[in-house]
Amino acid sequence: MVVNVKNLLAEAQKTREFSKTDIGLIEKAFVVAQKAHQGQKRKSGEPYFNHSYNTALKLAEWQLDAKTVCAGLLHDVAEDTKTSLEEIKKEFGEEISFLVDGVTKLGKFKYRVENGKSNSANHVQLQAENIRKMLLAISQDLRVILIKLADRLHNMKTLSAIPIQKQKRIALETSEIYAPLAYRLGMQNLSGELEDLAFPYLYPDEYRWLIENVKEKYEEREKYLEKVKIVIEKNLKESGIEPEKIDFRAKRYSSLYKKLLHQNMNLEQIYDLVALRIIVKTVEECYSVLGIIHQLWPPMPGRIKDYIAMPKPNGYRSLHTTVLCLDNKPTELQIRTTEMHQEAENGIAAHWLYQQKKKGKDYLHKKPVFAEQKELAWVEQLRNWQKEFSDSEEFLQSLKIDFLKDRMFVMTPKGKVVDLPVNATPIDFAYAIHTDIGDHCVGARINNKIVPLDYQLQSGDLVEILTQKSKKPSESWLHSVKTNIAKKKIRAAIKEKEYSGLLKSAPVFEFKIVALDRIGLLKDISSIFYRSHINIQSTNTSSSGNYRTIKIRCEIDKEKAAKVVLKLKESIKEIKEVGYKIMK
Ligand code: MN
Repeated sequence: MVVNVKNLLAEAQKTREFSKTDIGLIEKAFVVAQKAHQGQKRKSGEPYFNHSYNTALKLAEWQLDAKTVCAGLLHDVAEDTKTSLEEIKKEFGEEISFLVDGVTKLGKFKYRVENGKSNSANHVQLQAENIRKMLLAISQDLRVILIKLADRLHNMKTLSAIPIQKQKRIALETSEIYAPLAYRLGMQNLSGELEDLAFPYLYPDEYRWLIENVKEKYEEREKYLEKVKIVIEKNLKESGIEPEKIDFRAKRYSSLYKKLLHQNMNLEQIYDLVALRIIVKTVEECYSVLGIIHQLWPPMPGRIKDYIAMPKPNGYRSLHTTVLCLDNKPTELQIRTTEMHQEAENGIAAHWLYQQKKKGKDYLHKKPVFAEQKELAWVEQLRNWQKEFSDSEEFLQSLKIDFLKDRMFVMTPKGKVVDLPVNATPIDFAYAIHTDIGDHCVGARINNKIVPLDYQLQSGDLVEILTQKSKKPSESWLHSVKTNIAKKKIRAAIKEKEYSGLLKSAPVFEFKIVALDRIGLLKDISSIFYRSHINIQSTNTSSSGNYRTIKIRCEIDKEKAAKVVLKLKESIKEIKEVGYKIMK
């Protein structure tokens, strides 16, 4: 590989031309990054700058804007060299330094799998989903994620050079976080490539088995498809269709392995080991080609998939069919347009490219896409705004990840991600973990620093709650917390505290009043209690002759009790006898 700014510029300008300013910016970033990494080596022994260059080259290949390519060159400069973020800002401006800063922040994230017993597979999946959202929230701008993905791709390609323990962790993080994230962004090609790069590190034995058993099959299938291709080309020509391209796509080892697990490791059952891809110009031609194929060979029932009328949740569009082909061999064919193909390969990056080419005219009137699963709702949002922009400036704006602007993602010391509303405090976090932790919370450490309990959490914060058994929630917490669950729990705890407090400070008194009975006697006596703001708990009366005995229980203190006795004697002349005892 030749590390050369000319190659980089050529790649970036494959489908469009950059302005003089943009070209100057990339040339300058190239020089600055190369100089900053001077003398640094990768674990593999090659110059460090090769990594920065390859990251930028990938971004150029995806046809991203000049500033993103610059940030790709500079992405490790702030973290690993003497050149600071401030200097990058001064030399390259706010936007590039923001992108570099974002990538640096993402680099601090380490995927840890909790080892707790309660960890069901489902729980781990939810966790991974939250982590992906957290990364998006930290990034704030999708271009930060794209740089990170290009960075990760090159790191995965050079993974063999680093220590084995670290290899496993990075491969796992790639497979569980970054590959699915790329997939969600519609970058299926990148997603598959990342999965394939991680696979040998995560499943070394299975990988070896596949290599030994599949390689020949792949070659055999390709030879066979070569023959199929000739027949198809001939028939399409007769119908007046000139395909843009017909090629093969060998199924990736990682996805083949997943499929084999479902098919009892029976390779004969995998019809799309190598699929034939037919790329045409228009949607109409896609359906025409499908018709022609089905006239040539019978389709296998249940294997025709119209992802053009009903795209996959990540936006993937194509027609798939499996036919009993030459020699009655089941064979999968995929039919799509060039645009669909580009999108399937590069997802959101392809959107960028098309956006620039078409100025958003045809592109905007694509059919709406519906995600089936609830958990994909956020991808739905993502895709919706992708469609809504109408020029480059707007597109750049829309790359700002504001669909997650109301949410925030923080981590427990064990690496569990907690999803909270923006401006949430450590108390919200504590109650989100467990009521007991919330109720007994006395302080918080954020990223190892003690902070006040009304501190506003930031996405990516590592939060540790300090508790004390004797501590009870305070009413003032209600002013700073943001989640309803925390408010509810605090109110419940305060009520309980007040109640148990009352029990302690105000014992129950029982008044015994003996008086000459008359109409309205009980009412007059009760009203004296009420006027003294005393809540009567119970009243009990009994008569003997002309006298009535009234027992009243209430919660008051001695001083008040004495006052009530006086008042009763003064106001109700029928009273012969009044006194009280303390019940507990
Ligand atoms: Mn890097």
